[in-house]
Amino acid sequence: MNFFETDGMYSVLRDKGFSLAQAEEEAQYIVVNTCTVTNKADVKNRNIIRNAIRTNPGAKVYVTGCYAETDKEILQNIPGVFGVFGNTEKSSLPYKILEDWEGKETYPHKALDRFSYSDVLPEGHTRAYLKIQDGCNRKCSYCKIPAARGLGVSRNYNDVLDQVRYLQDNGVGEIQLTGVNLGWYRLENGEKGFLNLLEGILKILEYSRIRLSSIEPPDVGPGLLDLMKHSRFCKFLHIPIQSGSRKVLKDMRRTYHPDAFRTRIELAKEKLPNLFLGTDVIVGFPSETEIEFQETKQLLVELGFAKLHVFPYSVRKGTTAESFGDPIPGDEKKRRVLDLMSLSSALHTKYAESVIGKTYEAILESDGRFVTDNYLKGRLADSFRFDTLQTGQFVDVRCLDYKPAKDREGEFVFGLSL
Ligand code: SF4
Repeated sequence: MNFFETDGMYSVLRDKGFSLAQAEEEAQYIVVNTCTVTNKADVKNRNIIRNAIRTNPGAKVYVTGCYAETDKEILQNIPGVFGVFGNTEKSSLPYKILEDWEGKETYPHKALDRFSYSDVLPEGHTRAYLKIQDGCNRKCSYCKIPAARGLGVSRNYNDVLDQVRYLQDNGVGEIQLTGVNLGWYRLENGEKGFLNLLEGILKILEYSRIRLSSIEPPDVGPGLLDLMKHSRFCKFLHIPIQSGSRKVLKDMRRTYHPDAFRTRIELAKEKLPNLFLGTDVIVGFPSETEIEFQETKQLLVELGFAKLHVFPYSVRKGTTAESFGDPIPGDEKKRRVLDLMSLSSALHTKYAESVIGKTYEAILESDGRFVTDNYLKGRLADSFRFDTLQTGQFVDVRCLDYKPAKDREGEFVFGLSL
């Protein structure tokens, strides 16, 4: 979401002649687009902002994003911060910068809507993000996102299709649909419309492929899985499970049972062989004892995820879980995080071994790495040269080898499949 919105803000400024300051240059304007999903994110935000102010003394520093929405005052009080714009004001921020630059007020003062970024080509990456939804109507007890991004809203159906056409016509190979809660997507008449939207998108895709950023467990059903069989639909699902314990899921106010989750994943694997499955897990939630932690671990192994994003629980102000306290000591949370990170790397290796010898469609990234539709990442073997290929180009690659890495996923060695 933030990548898309950052590209969107920058595209307004780029059209007016602004350019990105290079690492060694001093910027005149700096925009820090923040996240507030964990306490750690807040600490990182403040460090990035202070560092930006210190290293660019002549710049005007603006802060926007989720942390700016929920903790405006804290940010306004950091010496050197020039302006703070919450999420609802984010799309008007580039116009404020233009006004500051031009020294006159010429742009609309009301906040533009949250989908007002159009014709946004990816800046510095080959795969484009397209935000189709924002906000969330669920009430997970630990989560601050509804406070930071409000209730669910959807981008107009035809507008999404126009944006997909625009990206495809401009040669963007991969379009990643993003939103806080993609499966919640609603049509103009208020009816559920995520599958209708996907059908509409798939009808116009000839060159580009689509990928879903993340999808909630209850939205993974036969309808979605059948659509995913389409050749331009990446065989990749990131489904946040958060916990494998029934008790913890209930306390988290997640709306599914581990058994229902298991059934959905089994169906997904049956319908889409070699599907890459990723997930998010929170460890150290107040009611997670060693027993519940082990239940989670067991389910992750059983379902064969290929990648885990592991977060230590942190109390977020204003959430329901704030009243549960934070009884699990930091060291214990750290142990559980490390345990699952090492599990993630083992699971990734297992998945990697299952695809050796197989061929997939990959896209060449600007850093010389290839990313396949099922999210395998790596480089070509030394015997293959890619200097005749262009960044962003599709090519079929064969998985020759996999080089595991400690506590993170390793890299593939690919061969060109001509
Ligand atoms: S589904 Fe739950 S965790 Fe995800 S954004 Fe909504 S409230 Fe937060």
